[in-house]
Amino acid sequence: MTERTVTLPHFWGLLDALPIALLYKENTKAEVFANVAALKLLQLPANKAVLSVSDLQHIKLLCPAKQQAFNLLHNPLLQALSGTALQQPVALEHCCDTLLLHSTSVALSFTLHNSILVTLQPINNIGDIPVLPQAVADTSELEEALAFDKLMSLISTQLINVQDNMLDQHIEDALAAVGEFCHADRSYVFQFNNDVDEMSNTHEWVRAGISTHKAQLQQIPEAALPYFCQQLKRDLVFAVNEVAKLPAEAAAEKQEFDAEDIQSVLCCAMLADDKLIGFVGCDMVSRQRNWTHNDLRRMKLVGEMIANTLQNVRYRHSLQNMQQQLLQANLELQQQASQDGLTAIANRRQLDTSLQNELQRCARNSLPMGLLLLDIDRFKLYNDHYGHQAGDDALKQIAQLLHQQTKRQGELAARYGGEEFALILPGSDIHACKKMAEQVQLALAKLAIKHSASDIASNITASIGVVSMVPDKTNSSSDFIKAADQALYQAKANGRNCLVIHTNG
Ligand code: GH3
Ligand code: MG
Ligand code: MG
Repeated sequence: MTERTVTLPHFWGLLDALPIALLYKENTKAEVFANVAALKLLQLPANKAVLSVSDLQHIKLLCPAKQQAFNLLHNPLLQALSGTALQQPVALEHCCDTLLLHSTSVALSFTLHNSILVTLQPINNIGDIPVLPQAVADTSELEEALAFDKLMSLISTQLINVQDNMLDQHIEDALAAVGEFCHADRSYVFQFNNDVDEMSNTHEWVRAGISTHKAQLQQIPEAALPYFCQQLKRDLVFAVNEVAKLPAEAAAEKQEFDAEDIQSVLCCAMLADDKLIGFVGCDMVSRQRNWTHNDLRRMKLVGEMIANTLQNVRYRHSLQNMQQQLLQANLELQQQASQDGLTAIANRRQLDTSLQNELQRCARNSLPMGLLLLDIDRFKLYNDHYGHQAGDDALKQIAQLLHQQTKRQGELAARYGGEEFALILPGSDIHACKKMAEQVQLALAKLAIKHSASDIASNITASIGVVSMVPDKTNSSSDFIKAADQALYQAKANGRNCLVIHTNG
């Protein structure tokens, strides 16, 4: 037997959670996966999910009646797993006698994309029933059981990959199946809202001619049906053959059942992570019915199936939600990492990245690449005179002003550091860059941030270094910054509040 070393199919969690015993094999692969229910049925250890075909040949099913082992060599199960889908239910052990056949399990298989799914259905669980009386071999009952199990297998397969828009439909299909097979008049799902101790009828199937009550059965306080809720929580089942014979403490329930003309009722709890999330149930309206063991088994199966599906959908939603939040957080992180904290425009890191990218793009397309470096004149004096907070505000306004100048694709305003800024202007030749520098100076003049401590002008001004050239593969971003910086240095030397264009040499 192989340990769980092979990668399990991505939907395995779901198959594992299903109450139906399943073997799953992809056509191109050798290993066979057995879900938890199948391992239990085949009496294999719970940690052996992956079986090889030869492993299966050695599986022995214990026959409880005779307390002897028989193996499954050359059985139809292996045929099914090797690609011959079983169209009809087939007994697993074909050489055994009728009693054994009915007391062990049957296999059904169907192809699912490029895989085979074999469902093993215990007619009676091995170990549960010591000896089966011959009378159980009632073929009509057996056929009905098989038909129900086959239908459930199909519905549960649909539920495995259920899309949100088909969920209600599949749940209603399951309710219709259980309603029909239990000969009920109505079947339904209720879900609890545990935050407010209320329950609501979320899905319903009714036989033709039977009235529906779904609309009225919304947000029913648990306290309104205390006897029912207490029993469901304690026993996980609420089965009443004759509503008329309910005890006195069930007065509220009796009143509700009478109002809906219910004569017999059977409900099974739906659990998720051991918590009660709701229940499935069915009613008899036209006549009274004594619920059978089979009714209970079917109701439980449908309840488990729907609970698993709802839980799965919930997990999927919370996963999608979490993924969305993670993506959002990641985006914010990315933004924070590339944004200047004070001015909210691009920071030095983003400047370097963009400059590098745009340089390469311009080099590939033989386009000019422009860069402006700005330094606020006498900004230390501004801080000294107006205070650091006012200095911060001025920097924010100037950053916004620069950002507003960027209109074309690839253009970027960034804080280079301190009171220095940069403008990346891909595709701008020296004339366009000069024009942009003049435009910035004009806009700055219009902004008119008073700077009475400056010897340059009465308002804040800037010195600007300008560079533009068609880069080749040898030009790096630091070459551009160096050239713009040299021009800026020259602008400072020329008396500030002016621009200087970098020239080679
Ligand atoms: P110059 O005309 O030669 O450029 O003189 P300057 O005073 O502008 O240049 P200097 O390099 O001497 O001083 C830069 C000033 O910018 C000093 C520093 O306090 C100020 N500064 C840098 N970053 C910030 C900031 O984030 N907020 C504020 N309020 N001031 C800043
Ligand atoms: Mg400076
Ligand atoms: Mg300065």
